[in-house]
Amino acid sequence: MTKKDLTYHLKKISHFYGNKKVLEIDNLEIKKGTITGLIGPNGSGKTTLLRLLAFAEKPSFGQIFYKDRQEFPFSPTIRSKVTLLTQKPYLLRRTVFENIAYGLKIRKDIKQLEERVEKALNNVGLNYQNFAQRKWHELSGGEAQRVAMAARLILKPEVLLLDEPTASVDTESAKLIRKASLKARDIWGTTLIIASHDLQWLYSISDKQLSLFKGNIFTSGMENIITGPFERLSERESDKRFVKKLKDGQIITLKAPQNKECTTAIVKKKNITIELEKSSDNGIYNQLTGHIVSMLLEEKRGDIMVTVAVHDLSFVLRLSSDQINSLSLYPGKKVLLKFHSSEVEWI
Ligand code: ADP
Repeated sequence: MTKKDLTYHLKKISHFYGNKKVLEIDNLEIKKGTITGLIGPNGSGKTTLLRLLAFAEKPSFGQIFYKDRQEFPFSPTIRSKVTLLTQKPYLLRRTVFENIAYGLKIRKDIKQLEERVEKALNNVGLNYQNFAQRKWHELSGGEAQRVAMAARLILKPEVLLLDEPTASVDTESAKLIRKASLKARDIWGTTLIIASHDLQWLYSISDKQLSLFKGNIFTSGMENIITGPFERLSERESDKRFVKKLKDGQIITLKAPQNKECTTAIVKKKNITIELEKSSDNGIYNQLTGHIVSMLLEEKRGDIMVTVAVHDLSFVLRLSSDQINSLSLYPGKKVLLKFHSSEVEWI
């Protein structure tokens, strides 16, 4: 991959609000024409990252390269190329037609305006006759989101950033937003970055997922988080391992954190195996009993994302359909999750 294939390259970014660090990204590359999903709990930094990528805000430290050029907020080159659609889209207090035509009019690009607006509306599943003359307040949440999306897509952006696009929309709108996003990527090579809590939807659209947790990024997608409180495994000075005691009596043993500030352990899904039988206990492997709560198909790779609840923790694993079949896994099934106590990272 050459630098030219990259839409974004973030280097040593950290971002603060006041003295609180909300984002820390050492290195992140986003390839042109890809669709990246951003996953993470509330407050993990997804919106902040999208705002930095939209050049709506300058990172406190570090650099953002856009197509191999360092760029800054409000640069005119960027303004016409990168567009951010927020969860509650802003519509002008005008008709749907005026909302969609607005960007083109500003650019004085008004050739075949009606036809283009009609096409843009069709792309998001809205009929021109029914919708073009509707006022901004005569739309449902899903329709308003689709109008906002059509208003962005008519400008053929190089980058479309979507912040929780399906949070307040109906399932039909969610499907149409997905379709319009994929079409933009396929026709214009648009790069999309999408934050969403709707994992099934996000996995059905994205090529790659990034997990954010406390402003840190995990590039291999969703990873498993174990939060404290933790206790020392033993009083002995030589054994610095930690344990997490679950209220159902199960105990998770974890290698010692690198330093005092580490408060959260990450167990990568590739390091967890799922089995049905307990192995003889050697004390190094965690063997946790849980049950499957969901199985989601990741359409791009054909893998199945399996979520297992272990008391009040949940773990996600990526399995192939062969693995699912050989263990006869189904939602509700009791399973064992096994991982080595040293296979954790502390943050
Ligand atoms: P997410 O989108 O994942 O919910 P955000 O990026 O909105 O996360 O927030 C990350 C952290 O930054 C949170 O702790 C939030 O309270 C804080 N934050 C976000 N915006 C501001 C702001 N303008 N001023 C101060 N703190 C903020």
